[in-house]
Amino acid sequence: MAEAALVELREISKQFAGVKALGGVSLSIRPGEIHCLAGENGSGKSTLIKVMSGVNRIDGGTVLVDGKEEPALDPRRAIALGIQVIYQDFSLFPNLTVAENLSIGAELREGRRVVSWRRMRAHAEEAVRQLGVALDLDTTVEMLPTAGKQLVAIARALMAQPRLLIMDEPTTALTGREVEVLFGVVREIQARGIAVLFVSHKMREMLDISERLTVLRSGRVVAEGPIRQFDEAAITRAMTGAELDEV
Ligand code: ADP
Ligand code: MG
Repeated sequence: MAEAALVELREISKQFAGVKALGGVSLSIRPGEIHCLAGENGSGKSTLIKVMSGVNRIDGGTVLVDGKEEPALDPRRAIALGIQVIYQDFSLFPNLTVAENLSIGAELREGRRVVSWRRMRAHAEEAVRQLGVALDLDTTVEMLPTAGKQLVAIARALMAQPRLLIMDEPTTALTGREVEVLFGVVREIQARGIAVLFVSHKMREMLDISERLTVLRSGRVVAEGPIRQFDEAAITRAMTGAELDEV
């Protein structure tokens, strides 16, 4: 037997008011791997992420973490299990500084009533140092370019010491150079033993960064395996269903 998957989804289904967003999706994420989740717009990628983060209640199926069923997964439980998500909007406080954004989460997590600015500052400095990027702690977040905001969101997620970091379409608003920096950060995160689930619909990126790939189409898994089994044409076929003459 292989070692237990970090997160395993079995036959997950999810419906929104008549729309079948997920129709029996099975997927497993191994400890420490970079896994790409691909699919066209509307294929169910974000819905699946929100299942793993405990935001979406499922209609059917099973979520297992470390091989154990998690029947009552909610956001608090997901965070406690080491699952962190960086959503496309980053969910930062734009009017606060980088240091403040990084500190708030940590203080809330630790449930402290008395805020120690010095402690918070030290935590924030360490988080940025570990990322290995240049990020001024005293800049107001709204002044940062998208790539900078994203780094703040990544640093904040890492401060929670996750075992799985999920990034929903992280490259959408980045330049080519920024994507390179991001991929450097992702590899660094993996080097620390953290698994990364990377959502994308760009072929080149998937082939560059991921070790395993899962392709969703219309709420179902249509391809899955080690990245070396895929090339751009195969991924396109899986994503679009072109071989079935679907539109
Ligand atoms: P992707 O992230 O791959 O673009 P989504 O998971 O966002 O796809 O959406 C999958 C399907 O579920 C789409 O048809 C979308 O319109 C629908 N959907 C997602 N979230 C909701 C929601 N909160 N309410 C209603 N429909 C939703
Ligand atoms: Mg999405």
